[in-house]
Amino acid sequence: MSSVAEGPVRTFQAFRIEREGDLAVIWFDLPGEKVNKFSSSVMLEFAEVVGEMERAGDIRRIVLASAKPSVFIAGADVTEFSRATSVEQAKEYVRLGQLTFQRWSRLPQVTVAAINGACLGGGCEIAISCDWRVMSTDPKARIGLPEVNLGIFPAWGGVTKLPRLVGLPAALDIILNGKQLEGRRASRVGLVDEVVDPGILLAVAKQFTGRGKRQGETKTKFYIDGNPAMRKFIFNKARKTVLAKTHGHYPAPLKAIDVMEYGMSAGVDRGLEREANEVAPLILGDVAQNLVRLFFLMEEAKKDNIGAKPLPVENIGVLGAGVMGGGIAQIVADKTDAGVRMRDINWNALAGGLRAAARVWKRKVERRRISRGEMQRKLARITTTTDWTGFPRTDFVIEAVVENLDIKRAVLAEYEGITGENAIFASNTSTIPITDIAANAKRPENVVGMHFFNPVDRMPLVEVIRGAKTSDVAAVTTAALARKLGKTVVYCNDGPGFVVNRILGPYMNEAGTILEEGHTIESIDTAMVDFGLPMGPLALLDEVGIDVASKVSGILSAAFADRMSGKSRVVEVLYADHRYGKKNGKGVYLYENGKRRGPDPAVYKLLGIDSPHPATPQIVVERMILSMINEAARILDEKIVATAGELDLAMIMGTGFPPFRGGLMRYADTIGAAYIVARLSELAEKSGPRFKPSAPLERVAEKNGKFYDAFAR
Ligand code: NAD
Repeated sequence: MSSVAEGPVRTFQAFRIEREGDLAVIWFDLPGEKVNKFSSSVMLEFAEVVGEMERAGDIRRIVLASAKPSVFIAGADVTEFSRATSVEQAKEYVRLGQLTFQRWSRLPQVTVAAINGACLGGGCEIAISCDWRVMSTDPKARIGLPEVNLGIFPAWGGVTKLPRLVGLPAALDIILNGKQLEGRRASRVGLVDEVVDPGILLAVAKQFTGRGKRQGETKTKFYIDGNPAMRKFIFNKARKTVLAKTHGHYPAPLKAIDVMEYGMSAGVDRGLEREANEVAPLILGDVAQNLVRLFFLMEEAKKDNIGAKPLPVENIGVLGAGVMGGGIAQIVADKTDAGVRMRDINWNALAGGLRAAARVWKRKVERRRISRGEMQRKLARITTTTDWTGFPRTDFVIEAVVENLDIKRAVLAEYEGITGENAIFASNTSTIPITDIAANAKRPENVVGMHFFNPVDRMPLVEVIRGAKTSDVAAVTTAALARKLGKTVVYCNDGPGFVVNRILGPYMNEAGTILEEGHTIESIDTAMVDFGLPMGPLALLDEVGIDVASKVSGILSAAFADRMSGKSRVVEVLYADHRYGKKNGKGVYLYENGKRRGPDPAVYKLLGIDSPHPATPQIVVERMILSMINEAARILDEKIVATAGELDLAMIMGTGFPPFRGGLMRYADTIGAAYIVARLSELAEKSGPRFKPSAPLERVAEKNGKFYDAFAR
């Protein structure tokens, strides 16, 4: 055997080997990239590194480390997925990784992973192929296998090896839910061996090499050798849980279970083979391809192509302490160091806003994500007032007062009167055009839309809306703040309802119409849930609030009066009956202690329906989805949003439109514009002019084109 190199350092493109006596530290540092990831070429180079180690008889200990701040290894290079053109090619890429990692795990040296940051997917798989794992306490350090979120499963040994390390239940939980664990939780399940301060990570990792090779499988005795019946029970339960969650739309988690079950009894080598055979077709399948596109859309949304630089934001005001104001104050105090000042016109509302904020943190305390002390400190950062004290200091204010143009204008005028030149006024309006709100403003360039979704802490989208006079600086400052809050930003141009609510308008209207035709509430909601939406339209109506929906619908109907014939009366009738939905326990559904129960039979009576009957699912789906596509085509044509991809991102993040379908316009492209026009024309004839295909939709159909081509950058 030869030694690693003549000198103490051996350099590859993405790797550097530093020797200290019989210890080699292998540094991963992918040139020109913020993160380390395994493309096929990087994997080939890593295979060379492994080869060097196999030949290095004088090296007895190896530490694998990253030279990137806050990232160990982010995983496989996702661009490889969109490049694969055949199952064989995909399998080759998978096998290359597997074999390299297997050679690594069979090195005679003691191997330790020094995990300083994100250690995901392929990163986690190489880490579990080491003898030991030491992880940093840095909050950015996370370990996990998020592959199911991309429509595949971890196939560089993850499915086969993880249960052997952490036991079956923990492995299933991590893989099927695409979980990412911080150090303490990872150590609790046995995924890492030590969690230490970042400053001593490397030193401790080196020390760990003194422990020698890890002996045998740790948590596996009971599940693997001892109890096949228990194993079977666990796997079957996992299948049921997956099916209940995915309605069978996502093949990857079920395949992961099959492969894990096989690998547990057949052994690691055969398990790996099965991993490769089963994952390769998934990589080329529609679901993974759609999810990978979504991944890239999200990456794109992190960047700004507007030239301006965001202003620093140090003091943030929130106007209105209702459902949205309380949620917004919470997330600002949670994710930024800015001071948070919340104003309402009455103290009861302020107390309610603080209670709502506290509830969000309380849930985190219960899940042991933060300590009680941390919760109290964060809560104390939100100060409240019924006047304008403290507001002259704010450089950014988020307005979440009632949805009323006059009140919003009045609040804006008062704010402009007490703040300086640069203070930004961001309205959380659901539907009112920003240009209208800013019509009488002194500094309309500082007025922008910042549309959050309810519940603020859980909904990932913020629409950033540019009014006619909004400056680039105001837009990018708002987007930068939204991203700091952990949100995905979609830029919109101005117009009633912007993107998401405008598309939801005809969708909700159609649900109401189908109900009024005498169909059952549950048949309408179930059809849409089976299509892949997180909840049906009528349950959503209760969730959003029928009072809110009534305002939204009023504004949208006034704006788009030309296509409002055949408008459903459902919202109007329920609102008149003081049914506001979940918030007052009275809506389309019945509620018990805030939990949704069955549909409320009184609703049928209110609507004059005697004997409701189930609707045909395909008809429900078609009417509802085609109505949305028709409106979306107009939105794209009016350039309210720049591309079909961004519209899809907004719908997925803002409404939970099924990600596996790739988004509304991707779905439209799948079924074809010509087909959509034909079906809408038939529906228009049968059920009314609201279905009439829009001109931009017809144009795409005439050319036999795709929305993704017609509306691209
Ligand atoms: P809400 O009725 O729960 O709260 C509004 C609050 O504003 C009330 O507490 C009220 O006292 C206060 N208020 C009224 N006038 C005020 C003034 N001059 N100064 C300060 N506070 C004042 O309403 P909400 O649901 O939180 O909606 C607020 C805004 O957010 C609306 O524009 C709405 O369209 C938008 N929005 C709502 C949702 C949702 O699902 N509820 C989602 C996105 C956006």
